[in-house]
Amino acid sequence: MKPMGSIPADFAMREGALLIAGRTAEDWIAEAGDTPLFVYDMAMVRACIARLRAALPEAMGIHYAVKANPFPPLIAAIRPYVDGMDVASAGEMRRVLDAGMAAADISFAGPGKRDRELEAAIAAGVTINLESEAEATRALAIGDRLGIRPRLAVRVNPDFEIRGSGMRMGGGARPFGVDAVRAAPLIRAIVSAGAEWRGLHIFAGSQALDAAAIAETQAATVALAGELSDAVGAAPPLVNLGGGFGIAYFPGEQPLDVEAIGSALAGTLAGRVPILAESAFAIELGRWLVGEAGVYLTRIVDRKESHGETFLVTDGGLHHQLAASGNFGTVVRRNYPVAVAHRMGDEPEETVSVVGCLCTPLDLLANKVSLPRAEAGDVIALFMAGAYGASASPQAFLGHPPALEILADPPFSSQS
Ligand SMILES: *Cc1c(COP(=O)(O)O)cnc(C)c1O
Repeated sequence: MKPMGSIPADFAMREGALLIAGRTAEDWIAEAGDTPLFVYDMAMVRACIARLRAALPEAMGIHYAVKANPFPPLIAAIRPYVDGMDVASAGEMRRVLDAGMAAADISFAGPGKRDRELEAAIAAGVTINLESEAEATRALAIGDRLGIRPRLAVRVNPDFEIRGSGMRMGGGARPFGVDAVRAAPLIRAIVSAGAEWRGLHIFAGSQALDAAAIAETQAATVALAGELSDAVGAAPPLVNLGGGFGIAYFPGEQPLDVEAIGSALAGTLAGRVPILAESAFAIELGRWLVGEAGVYLTRIVDRKESHGETFLVTDGGLHHQLAASGNFGTVVRRNYPVAVAHRMGDEPEETVSVVGCLCTPLDLLANKVSLPRAEAGDVIALFMAGAYGASASPQAFLGHPPALEILADPPFSSQS
């Protein structure tokens, strides 16, 4: 038997059945029409945002990093609760604009932006977080051609990264941002070319669970923003401090202490250098806002034995939920929390592996976990599926249908 992560405490049950936003897994499946299905509990997302607002200094903006989950109804539901959204492609930008987010509150980061993407952003009035000098040159030329003053921020590749961060995105040689030593000359160049300089974007890592490490990185980030601004001789309108807040997927992991981060950040901001006095600050989070709120529901198609081991073969798999199979940025495969959806309250009875329907040994959703007995036709719930799920998995692999997705936001979703 191998351990699994813990099921988020927000999920209740009724007569042993998992409840998501007050309704059972089978209710959601009936409403959506089939399995496999991702259900996102909007009340949990709102609760995360509210907790964060309470924890952070009042002046701190909260941005949603859309790539964690770009499901349009979710984007639309989150919009009223955040101060901005950060997108990483013109496709995400379109979805966010369609959801009614003001262009002035959208920023577009990411390497390899094509001319047509830069043009769409400039025409819409979205801020471009520049990833290189060459990108700046192209954006300025496009602004000239369109007769529009582009809104440009500079993404800085800092010389540090979050200690123990799950995914390295800053420090050393990176395709993201311009190296810190080259940022000030670039800012001067875009300002003198007539662009509207919107500020700095400094992102140093992802999936960190150590509050002290995040606080340390935020302090270093504010210090770097101050040094760069002094070097330029101008105050950045906005300093985007990045994010990096992780969630506890695996056994033994502790949820992040965001209250500790908030109080450290209050101290950091109180001690900032004078040039940053009037600057706005924001953090951008994807995973932490939406990751726990998603459940992936998949039905058992076959139950089989092989060499003394039991396999529950489901209609889902890594083509929808790659991360749970351990093939999305993890070094060692560990089990996400998983349950038999109508037997949540029951004691485990057997050790089984839950696999998907893809013809590859990689398609392992839960390895030798201890569960109540389940049969073909029963539904398996995989938790922690709200971020980097459907949109971050190879849905075309093997030609099965894409997963269904539904936003659980009663009373609205229950009325359809
Ligand atoms: C991916 C990404 C994020 C979101 O990261 P999470 O770990 O999901 O919070 C934020 N900012 C940038 C620049 C990103 O590339």
